Amino acid sequence: MAHENELSTMSTNICNIGKKMLIRKATAKPKCSGELQTCLLCDRQFCSEHKSKANETGVCEIDHHTYYRNHATRGGVYPTLEARNAAVAKMDEQVRH
Ligand SMILES: [Zn+2]
Ligand SMILES: [Zn+2]
Repeated sequence: MAHENELSTMSTNICNIGKKMLIRKATAKPKCSGELQTCLLCDRQFCSEHKSKANETGVCEIDHHTYYRNHATRGGVYPTLEARNAAVAKMDEQVRH
């Protein structure tokens, strides 16, 4: 992708959401800040600027219901933290039996 080189010359960490904005040319410079974290629900990187607006820990700001609908087959993708916890609990149970 032509954008990859442009992105790597930037000094700040650009998260997955910032990259999407750049590619869509929605902004010249995404306002990403802070350390990148991996989202618990969509398994992609996000920064402190693009974290969940609902203040959920470890979750980015995208609509995970939509993302889950489109990418559920990928695995490791969940619509809500509750769904993730339920899935993790189920996995634990399977390990114990
Ligand atoms: Zn960001
Ligand atoms: Zn996410």
